[in-house]
Amino acid sequence: MRRALSTPLRSPRSASATVQGIRRYASSSDVLANAVRAEAPRYDWTKEEISSIYHTPLMQLVYESATVHRKFHDPSAVQMCTLMNIKTGGCSENCSYCAQSSRHSTGLKATKLSTVDSVLEAARIAKENGSSRFCMGAAWRDMRGRKSNLKNIVEMVKGVRAMGMEACVTLGMLDGAQAKQLADAGLTAYNHNLDTSREHYPSVITSRTYDERLQTIEHVRDAGINVCTGGILGLGEKHEDRIGLIYEVATMPKHPESFPVNTLVAIKGTPLEGTKAVEFDSVVRTIATARLVLPGTIIRLAAGRITMTEEKQAMCFLAGANAIFTGEKMLTTDCSGWDEDKALFQKWGLKPMETEVVVEEEAWIEEGERRVSSG
Ligand code: SF4
Repeated sequence: MRRALSTPLRSPRSASATVQGIRRYASSSDVLANAVRAEAPRYDWTKEEISSIYHTPLMQLVYESATVHRKFHDPSAVQMCTLMNIKTGGCSENCSYCAQSSRHSTGLKATKLSTVDSVLEAARIAKENGSSRFCMGAAWRDMRGRKSNLKNIVEMVKGVRAMGMEACVTLGMLDGAQAKQLADAGLTAYNHNLDTSREHYPSVITSRTYDERLQTIEHVRDAGINVCTGGILGLGEKHEDRIGLIYEVATMPKHPESFPVNTLVAIKGTPLEGTKAVEFDSVVRTIATARLVLPGTIIRLAAGRITMTEEKQAMCFLAGANAIFTGEKMLTTDCSGWDEDKALFQKWGLKPMETEVVVEEEAWIEEGERRVSSG
């Protein structure tokens, strides 16, 4: 007899294995259904719950993450950010993916901190081209003994904020007093990536610990600065490590406002030179899972985006990514440019996100105009 097209095939597994399978599926689908129904973020995730979401059949996972994305965000809005290297190379840390570590022979020339004027000029150009967030990165282990550099960075932050843009910096480890100084300057966010899971971290970096990383994030949070922390995919990690990274941020007392998802750009001269690129389905799974578990967070498609086709990028936006780095460079690696990204937005029905800063600024301008016209 011919089988009707919609008739399911009988499972070849034993009856008890099938029952167990159904139970497992039922509980995983409950976790997913609850994540989709949630009206607010939750902070008591277990690794098993996150794992069950992560391992959902991919098309269903993207459908569910897109649903949550629509509930918490405008799905057509993508934040345009520009990242400038304000101090290149010569870093004493040994992050195995980084061109800027003095421990690797990448041929990168170390520089001093850029001048305040040159940084503000770059921020002005970024704003003119549509970026609403300006991020500044310096290749340092920490800020100990860098009082005068910090003073200049404070001026950079103040200048960027005065232009009506969000300002983010990444300067290595901070103590509480340094975080407070940056908060007082009006810093919007501090970037300090956890990179990967706690378990995989020692295979990537040995010059500092995961807990030191978390300590800086705590100082940033305590100072009232938004937290930007995420990871790099393609560091030789397994699915469990991507799940572990999401678990780490999902169980923080407050979720990071920003979760960057980088894919490794394997740089010549680093220990990870020649590493095979991460499979794209793992990138999508990570973004979709992060969207379901961190519903209110901005998910930032960061380094490695330039290697993705438009279609791949569109899939990431569908799964819940809603920020990109755009401009001439992204630290030491190439970056898709503003014009290219504007064309991409146009084609795929996206628009630059209006950030809180921009909205506030516009409200302020409207209020001013209203006062002028009413005499
Ligand atoms: S701390 Fe930052 S700049 Fe230094 S080696 Fe690690 S990633 Fe590179």
